[in-house]
Amino acid sequence: MDGSAVARRITEATAERAAELTRATGVTPCLAAVLVGDDPASVTYVRMKRNRCAKAGIRSRLVELPAETTTAELVATLTELSQDPEVHGILLQHPVGPHIDERAAFEAIAPEKDVDGVTMRSFAAMGFGLPGFASCTPGGIMRLLDAYDVDPTGKRAVVVGRSAILGKPVGMMLLARDATVTYCHSRTVGLSEIVREADILVAAVGRPEFIKGEDIKPGAVVLDAGYNAGNVGDVDFAGASARARLITPVPGGVGPMTIAVLLEQTVTAAERLTGAVEAPSGA
Ligand code: NAP
Repeated sequence: MDGSAVARRITEATAERAAELTRATGVTPCLAAVLVGDDPASVTYVRMKRNRCAKAGIRSRLVELPAETTTAELVATLTELSQDPEVHGILLQHPVGPHIDERAAFEAIAPEKDVDGVTMRSFAAMGFGLPGFASCTPGGIMRLLDAYDVDPTGKRAVVVGRSAILGKPVGMMLLARDATVTYCHSRTVGLSEIVREADILVAAVGRPEFIKGEDIKPGAVVLDAGYNAGNVGDVDFAGASARARLITPVPGGVGPMTIAVLLEQTVTAAERLTGAVEAPSGA
C-alpha cells in the first residue's frame, strides 16, 4: 500500500479546502505546534509537519519551550493557544519529558482544536461513535484501508500494541467497522498463533521486525505503524510481503498518512471555528 500516494491525494484535497476557506472568509487555517526541549526526532517530526502545512496552504506557528518547562507552564501555554482565535489546531509533540504530566498537558487542549486526537474527549467520542477528531495514526490506517477497498466487516483483525494513541484506538476503529478484533501486548501468551489468524494485522509495537514473515496469514492485509531506527518497521517486510495481499512499506506507508490526517483535521477545525461549515452535533 502506497501511503505516500494516498496521503498526497488527501493533502491535495485538503489544500483545496484550505484555499476555499481563505477565499470565503479571509482566514487561513493555522496549526500551532508545541515543542518541549530539543529531542532530535521530535524536532524532525515537527519540521516535517510544518513543511507539509506550508505546502497545503495552512499556516503553522511553532511554540518552542525549554526542556525544563513544568507541567503548569505547559498547561498555561496550551490553554492560551486553546483560547487564541487565530489558532485552529494544536499539536503537542510527544513524548514530552518524564517530569511533565503528559495527560494533564493534553487535556489543556480544547477539544475543538484537538486535531491530533489526543484528549480524553476525542478518545471517548471515538469509543461512543460520536463526532470528534481521530487520533491521527489510527485515522490514517483506516483511510489506507478505505483507499484500497479493504472492508473490515467480519474480518479477523489483530492489533499488536495497545498504546492510547495507536494500538487501542485503531482496534476500536476496526471494531466500529465490524471487524472481530484481538489485541496483543507484552503479556500476551501465544502471540505468533494469534497473529497467524489475522486477515488484517496492525503492528504498533516499536520493535524492529518483531513480526516474522512466516506468521503472516497468506492473503492478509498488513499495516506496519512501527518506525524504528534505520527506517525499519515492526514487520519483517521481505518475509511478510511474500505472503500478504497488501502491506505498507516503512517508510512510505503509515507515516505519511498520519501527517495527511493531521492537516485534514486542522482544516476541518478551521472550517468549524470560522463557522464556514457547521460542526456535527456533539462535536
Ligand atoms: P508504545 O507506547 O511504546 O506501545 C508499544 C506497545 O507494544 C505496547 O502496548 C506494548 O505492550 C507492546 N509491546 C512492546 N513489546 C512487546 C512485545 N515484546 N510483545 C508484544 N507487545 C509488545 O508505542 P506506540 O507509541 O504505540 O508506537 C508503536 C510504534 O509505532 C513505534 O515504532 C512508533 O515509532 C510508531 N509510531 C508511528 C507513528 C507514525 O506516524 N507512523 C505514530 C506513532 C507511533 P504493553 O502495553 O504490554 O507494554
